[in-house]
Amino acid sequence: MITEKKIMDKIISLAKQRGFIFQSSEIYGGLKSAYDYGPLGVELKRNIMNEWWRAMVHEREDVTGLDASIIMHPKVWEASGHLAGFSDPLVDCLISKERFRADKAPMRTIGDLINITCIDKGQAKDYQNIIEKRFNITLKRNGKILEGLKVIEKNKIGFFENHETEASKKFDFPGYVSPTFNSPFLSEEKQFNLMFRSQIGAVDALGDIANFVNDNKHLDKDEMKQGIERIVKDSAVYLRPETAQAMFVQFLNCQQTMSMKIPFGIAQMGKSFRNEITTEHYIFRSCEFEQMEMEFFVEPGSQKKWLDYWRDKRLEWWKSFSNYPDNFIYRAHEKDELAHYADACYDIEYKYPWGFDELEGVASRTDYDLKKHAEYSGVKLSYFDQQKENPETGKMGWRYTPYVIEPAAGATRGLLVYLIDAYHEESVKDAKGNDTTRVVMKLHPRLAPFKVAVLPLIKKDGLPEIARNLVNNFMKAGINVRYDEQHAIGKRYRRHDEVGTPYCLTVDGESKEDNCVTIRDRDTMKQERIPINDAVKIVKKRLTKST
Ligand code: ATP
Repeated sequence: MITEKKIMDKIISLAKQRGFIFQSSEIYGGLKSAYDYGPLGVELKRNIMNEWWRAMVHEREDVTGLDASIIMHPKVWEASGHLAGFSDPLVDCLISKERFRADKAPMRTIGDLINITCIDKGQAKDYQNIIEKRFNITLKRNGKILEGLKVIEKNKIGFFENHETEASKKFDFPGYVSPTFNSPFLSEEKQFNLMFRSQIGAVDALGDIANFVNDNKHLDKDEMKQGIERIVKDSAVYLRPETAQAMFVQFLNCQQTMSMKIPFGIAQMGKSFRNEITTEHYIFRSCEFEQMEMEFFVEPGSQKKWLDYWRDKRLEWWKSFSNYPDNFIYRAHEKDELAHYADACYDIEYKYPWGFDELEGVASRTDYDLKKHAEYSGVKLSYFDQQKENPETGKMGWRYTPYVIEPAAGATRGLLVYLIDAYHEESVKDAKGNDTTRVVMKLHPRLAPFKVAVLPLIKKDGLPEIARNLVNNFMKAGINVRYDEQHAIGKRYRRHDEVGTPYCLTVDGESKEDNCVTIRDRDTMKQERIPINDAVKIVKKRLTKST
């Protein structure tokens, strides 16, 4: 049985060793929570995104595509509410100074002991002193643990000295503790905007700020901050925190140029940026990530039907590339979880090694976004249906603001899901008959970075030439192929098992006589002899069959 941490460690290590994912700027010590997708990672990510585009745009007549700029007019974010409201509640631990998201912190309930867990005994001693000075209590030191606190009421913790049954001191408690130290000594929650801000144009914001500060030394801290905000605001632009808003802003252009009739959708995929404080679980939550989003515009009143439709469609899509479809579920949002503009929402969740968590959101966003952009831009963002009766007047022809269903998925999060789904360890016999472990990435053939590897058994006797010829045929057919002659054949098979190559074609001594090669299936390890001239056709057929 592989534990949660172990499986993640194994996947992270394999992803690095085999060229899927590297730490960003590794030679400079890395940048926290930023990742680079290596030679195999970029293929896997593109394959996932291409499959999404195929299913959402190419295979449908009612969805068009869009590729909007990452930096948009700042009014977009004002209208969407991101400037005012796109924030997370942040809290500081008063002892360790750790900063974390309140809504993701570990909860503690009445009766729970709260043992502050330090890195080592030295730190425990330091923290014991800090707590003593600040809160006037001496927690008991037990190695690297500080003991004596317990949750006694919903919003209170008590300090219990020397096994006393009554708390000698009580403190306010928000219900959660700091994730690293289990500390209940926390600051008030502060809202923190998640958008990355930059400046556009030939502005010297720093110079202007310096002049302002120099000329206004008499201002207090808040006045100074407001003055600086005003200077920065004039040239401020934002890296988009989601791809979605562009589809609302370009609603009319897309609808009119393509003569789209409601219901129809606009799809976009690409980079989004969020200044996430709690980055976690490898690439699950990072500051720069890729999204695949679609806004589906529907008639008011039909949103429930379409929400259910897209929930089922999207769940089915994720399952179709998985070895374990039952690990994907959907969960309806509770009323108090819903965004203020949504009248219903589902999360599509995956069973990660740490439990079920979000992979995609499918939200019914009402007519909120189009109405907001209409209000801020002064442009009417509505739709006229000549064939429909206006429900208010009873006359033919109905102009309305469409309602929107939004399936919003994470492409990089999806990549993590399929890495976890694909990771397998199997017990097999080696050439000498000993038990060994085979690591195999059972990636869906359509997602696998290489579809086929061509391996000459030895590097002489004309075998490399035959293999290279075959490689050329695959390249011409547009099938991603890898020529590989390094190391013994068994080692090469293992290497391709570890990157998920579905088929290996081996050119051996007999190939010159019988014009055949051996095709080895990654999952069953079964080998068959096939004619060289049919190799491309056969692989193509097997790849198509796996659609
Ligand atoms: P979460 O609750 O996990 O923070 P969210 O509800 O804020 O996500 P949405 O705004 O609905 O996420 O974005 C849609 C999808 O984009 C998410 O389901 C997820 O797959 C992906 N996503 C969002 N934030 C991140 C991130 N910081 N890193 C990677 N993927 C992300």
